[in-house]
Amino acid sequence: MIAIENRTVFAAIVSESIEKVQHNRAFNFNEAHKKSVINAISKAVIRIREQGEFMTYEPAADRFLIWSQSSNLVYELGPDGRHGCMAELQGAVCWHKAAKRLIALYTAAMLDPFTSGYFDPGDEAMPYLQPEDERKRESCGGVWI
Ligand SMILES: [Zn+2]
Repeated sequence: MIAIENRTVFAAIVSESIEKVQHNRAFNFNEAHKKSVINAISKAVIRIREQGEFMTYEPAADRFLIWSQSSNLVYELGPDGRHGCMAELQGAVCWHKAAKRLIALYTAAMLDPFTSGYFDPGDEAMPYLQPEDERKRESCGGVWI
């Protein structure tokens, strides 16, 4: 079961993934492909949120399992990402691979937040994100926040 417990880290992974597609030179001459990949990422995020209980990821084996609720088929994506869904067989971009990549990055970030690059200091480390009546005021650069 996949459950996104740290939405800040997951959002950072998703936005960075979309940004990488936007700025990847390999997509420069193929806007349609770029749009397909971004759509796959978007669909993956929705499916993870709505159907995460039908997915599992084993980081040691880099193995991602999805029980597709639309086709009732189980897809297994190993390290090479091949899994034989209709989109993949037709050479199209599918959300399964996007979901695996997002979950692999998210899992790595949760297992080792400091080296993954997705460290979330949490709201307590950012006092200005807490309600005013619950936080202790402090001076930052001569300004009280
Ligand atoms: Zn697929």
